[in-house]
This record gives sequence, C-alpha cells and structure tokens, in this order.
Amino acid sequence: MPPSKQERREALKDVYLQARDCPRCPQLVATRNTVVFGSGNADADLMFVGEAPGRNEDEQGLPFVGQAGKLLDRLLGEIGLTRADVFIANVLKCRPPGNRDPHPEEIENCQDYLMRQVELIEPRVICTLGNFATKLLRADPTGITRLHGQEELRVIGTRAVRLYPIFHPAAALYTPSNVEVLRADFARIPELLALGPPPQPGREEPPEPAVPEPRLDIPELDPVAVAVDDRQMGLF
Ligand code: URA
Repeated sequence: MPPSKQERREALKDVYLQARDCPRCPQLVATRNTVVFGSGNADADLMFVGEAPGRNEDEQGLPFVGQAGKLLDRLLGEIGLTRADVFIANVLKCRPPGNRDPHPEEIENCQDYLMRQVELIEPRVICTLGNFATKLLRADPTGITRLHGQEELRVIGTRAVRLYPIFHPAAALYTPSNVEVLRADFARIPELLALGPPPQPGREEPPEPAVPEPRLDIPELDPVAVAVDDRQMGLF
C-alpha cells in the first residue's frame, strides 16, 4: 500500500527538520540565511530538481522564487500545471556564496536529502534542470546540451523514475533561443506523466492499462490547514 498523502507530508517534514539545521558544509552554514528544502506537493507525480538556491531563495526559504522561477511557473502553466501539482527541490539545499558552483563535497554531503525526498514523494517523472542535477542523478558526466529532451528509466536511491533532463531556466534566460528549446521539452512532460508509473526494481510489472491512464491523479491543490512547518516548507 503506498503511503497516504498525509503520511508523506509527515515523513517529509521529518527530513526537513533534519535538513533545517544541517551542519555538513561549514562554508554554506556560515553564509546561508535559510535551508531551502524544497516545496510543493508531497504526493506529486512530477518533481523538478534544480541546482542550488540563489539570493532570493535563500532569503525566502523557497526554491525558484526569482526570475528563473517565474519562467518555470510560466512553462508549467503552459502545460496546465501549477506549483501545487509538482514538487521542486535542488541538488544543494543551501546557497553557495556569490552563487558560485556547488563543490563536489557539498553535492555529496547534501545528496541524502534529495534521495529521501525522491523515496518519499515517489514521483513518476523527475525533470533535472541543467547540468548539476542531471549529472548527479544520472551518475554520469554527460552534459545537458547532449541529453536534454531525452527521457530514460533510472533508479534513484530505491525508486525507478522516468528521468527527463531539460535546460535550467536560468540558462535559458541568458540565451533566449534556449527558452524555445525548454518550451518544446516541457511540452512533452504530459506525455511522460501519462505513461504511468515506471516498473519498480524487484517488483512485477503492473498490467498495462488498456487505454492511457487519465490524468486524474495529478494532485489537486489541497487547502488543508497548514501547520507552521508546512508553510516553511511551502507544502501544499
Ligand atoms: N536556481 C536553482 O537551481 N534553484 C533555485 O532554487 C533557484 C535558482
């Protein structure tokens, strides 16, 4: 039996409470204002993984709240989704000072949190945004320019997912022609979600539905009364 939405939220909150005071990267601990755990729907079929919080995210405690986030929201809207339907996280939960690239040891220190998020949320599709997330979750140095728009089945931690690398929205903002590439890659996301859950390792494949599954399982905005931790986590 998969966990209920409430059970996922509670389990995610426990991980958040650990991450909130994470001491693992001394330089990031010294310069961060907040740990940006991630936000969205604990029951989402679609998860996005970016690189690391920037200044705005570090101040607000939520991922993708700057210009790149606005583009992400627009592209989500174009495929009929909102943030309440998805979960958004990053490779690093803390802002690297001056927005420098994440260091390898920081990525290593932080990856347990991302793995726990994937295991608890159990998304069908993970869109990696840009090079850092793509290289980490594919465990391979091939870059985003070669890989974007090509989905593949991958096991992340204990979960099989459809991994779908796409350009980072911030990179698309620097190179406007890439916005159209990103938009075209986004347009395929509904098709990937409609493929249904990927077969899980060690389990028998579920029988194929006779007709494509309807998108009824895209979670609705859940206006349950939110506790303080839910707000800090941006949980819907
Ligand atoms: N860029 C990222 O990779 N993540 C954010 O949360 C914001 C900008």
